[in-house]
Amino acid sequence: MSQTVTDFEVHDIRFPTSEQLDGSDAMNPDPDYSAAYVVLRTDVQDRTDGPDSGNGGIEGHGFCFTIGRGNEVMAAAIDTLRPYLVGRPVPRTAADLAALHRELTHDSQLRWLGPEKGVMHMAAGAVVNAAWDLAAKLAGRPVWEFLAGMTPEELVSLVDFRYLTDALTPEEALEILRAAEPGRAERAERLRAEGYPAYTTSPGWLGYSDDKLVGLAKEAVADGFTQIKLKVGGSLSDDVRRLALAREAVGPDIRIAVDANQRWDVSDAVEWMTALAPYDPHWIEEPTSPDDILGHAAVRAGQPVKVATGEHVANRVVFKQLLQAGAVDFVQIDAARVAGVNENLAILLLAAKYGVPVCPHAGGVGLCELVQHLSMFDYVAVSGSWDNRVIEYVDHLHEHFADPTVIESGRYTAPGSPGFSARMLPESIAAHRYPEGAVWQARRTTEEAGR
Ligand SMILES: [Mg+2]
Repeated sequence: MSQTVTDFEVHDIRFPTSEQLDGSDAMNPDPDYSAAYVVLRTDVQDRTDGPDSGNGGIEGHGFCFTIGRGNEVMAAAIDTLRPYLVGRPVPRTAADLAALHRELTHDSQLRWLGPEKGVMHMAAGAVVNAAWDLAAKLAGRPVWEFLAGMTPEELVSLVDFRYLTDALTPEEALEILRAAEPGRAERAERLRAEGYPAYTTSPGWLGYSDDKLVGLAKEAVADGFTQIKLKVGGSLSDDVRRLALAREAVGPDIRIAVDANQRWDVSDAVEWMTALAPYDPHWIEEPTSPDDILGHAAVRAGQPVKVATGEHVANRVVFKQLLQAGAVDFVQIDAARVAGVNENLAILLLAAKYGVPVCPHAGGVGLCELVQHLSMFDYVAVSGSWDNRVIEYVDHLHEHFADPTVIESGRYTAPGSPGFSARMLPESIAAHRYPEGAVWQARRTTEEAGR
């Protein structure tokens, strides 16, 4: 029986979120949350009659997140990787997934577009993640369990240690993973029973009114969250007012993180955070350029609030330097920014080596669905801890997914369905394809009628 990847589909999917200012921050005032989405089709029949069975074979689903314009560029980048997949035996094992990751990130010509950063690297990540979705489905397990069921040796084999060995060697990675082997089963059980800690950004978008901010902050606490996040960086006086209102609304015991989305130069960040410090912010996220390692170290040294970054960090090498330079207090991995599960495993291991907690970036479209698997795997098999760790949660667009994130009392419920929770509903894909989907056609018709 042949078991191959038979087809490779790419979709440009966009949601008109800018109409409600959901997701608005100091640098991104009008995002239309979007996904450059890839489907790997196979000839492996789904014996469980799972959600993919209608199309014949089991499928792998993956995507990059963007905020609108340029999503077509991302989709085109993903499409350049088609020859690596179509006709390939379906990936099932750590060895298969390691080989695919290396091939996609080291194509001798495509590599020129990075290397290992930007659109092409994110495209590789979408395909790598789709392969993980596929392999986990074939194993009948959610990705976090699939990963946590691998031996330390298999996990180490997944990582590309090139450029890392001055900070983390394969032997050290093996030691970290072996040290976390005892207790894996107990932690997995605890995760299934209690879920993983989350925080919510839903109250804090910059485009929201003060009343909406206060109402949503109170609602978040009532819903069981112990941490919320506010966007900052538009105007200092507005930020002082908004943070004071939020602090008054939630009281002293709830953590309030703030996020500048790269708005500042180093001196601005120091000045701004010194002014906001009396309201006890838990961290300042993305104070400045995500490429500026020494800048983050200077911000950390120059004011009292802890520093977090990572959602725009291009690859494991920049994370390595942020950790080496003592520039961050929290590492914020993103499931769809770097080259997929494999590179995020490298980053989780680096964070464990340096003893820095990982608090993933999520939100967007589908990012909560993906990244929960990585934090849960980290808890079971890498750091072995959820102390001081939280996954971001944003209550947007989950209804478009077949296995949406489930939040209960401020915690992510451990996913039980096989795969990466990445599958978007076929009707959502059809309606939001850009520009031909019904959602976009309707807007075009309205615009034309108004002219
Ligand atoms: Mg952020």
